[in-house]
Amino acid sequence: MKKLTLLFTLALSTLTHAWVIDGLGDYKFEAIADNTHIIHGPLGEPNKQNHGFMNNPGMVIGADGVIVIDPGGTYQVGQKVIEEIKKITDKPIVAAFNTHVHGDHWLGNQAILEQYPNAKIYAHPAMIAQAKDGEGDSWVSIMDTSTEGLSKGTIATYPTDATTHLQEIAVAGETFKIHNDITGVAHTNTDIMIEHVGSKTLFLGDNDLIHRFGRFDGTSDMHGNIKALEYAIDLGLDQYVPGHGPSGSTATAVQPFLDYLLIIQDETKKGYEEDLADYEIKPFADKKLANYRDWHGYDAQLGKHINKMLLEIEDRDN
Ligand SMILES: [Zn+2]
Repeated sequence: MKKLTLLFTLALSTLTHAWVIDGLGDYKFEAIADNTHIIHGPLGEPNKQNHGFMNNPGMVIGADGVIVIDPGGTYQVGQKVIEEIKKITDKPIVAAFNTHVHGDHWLGNQAILEQYPNAKIYAHPAMIAQAKDGEGDSWVSIMDTSTEGLSKGTIATYPTDATTHLQEIAVAGETFKIHNDITGVAHTNTDIMIEHVGSKTLFLGDNDLIHRFGRFDGTSDMHGNIKALEYAIDLGLDQYVPGHGPSGSTATAVQPFLDYLLIIQDETKKGYEEDLADYEIKPFADKKLANYRDWHGYDAQLGKHINKMLLEIEDRDN
């Protein structure tokens, strides 16, 4: 019986040529609006099983070309994303956006520029500077190590064009509005959020995460991240695409992470006023966070998030 099921599954996947990642599932573009499609990637950290694919590549199909948002975390993943695009349209890729400097979102640029050398790739000017200044190479080696060599051949391929705040970019008959420098610093100091005007969709990068937590590293600001999410909600758009996790309305795809950050901020502030250490604050926060315990990375990140928030609160108090 098991064998039959397996054969059937194999036959089906051959028929549809799905992008199958063993043990994780099938990945393909899903339409969230008329000409706007997302592949919702696996939720883990980069590893051998997911081949370094764990983000949400997006595409918008314009009149005479395709625009890609965050083409994935390795050269090979970028190639897979392009294969999936070609299953839906034969229009060429004419532009791409990179939401921020973390390589799991943009190392796939290499595959785009290899096949479409005239495509323009847009990112925050600080993203381009940091990527060229070592972040790119460092992400290439993170991917090589974490995928145990599956990303071999990936070369940091940088965006070609720097964005500015509220810049409007018209390409292939579609208009994109860039939201950067909203709060200065949020998930990183290189974030842009990309609004596709036609479908009222906002691509938030890792300023927004759903069902998966990430690190707040040295270049991040949790207070700024809260402001960026409030700003995103105030835009009043129809579709919100997080950096990782399912897309949806503000209620399902933005508010949950904003509420998490507000609880962390609130509990940490209370703890700070009572002179508590981060590990003493943690149980109080955990009690309020029952809805988040099944998010990927909760146990690994909660203590670190409180520690980071405490540092920020201390910093603001001095
Ligand atoms: Zn990130």
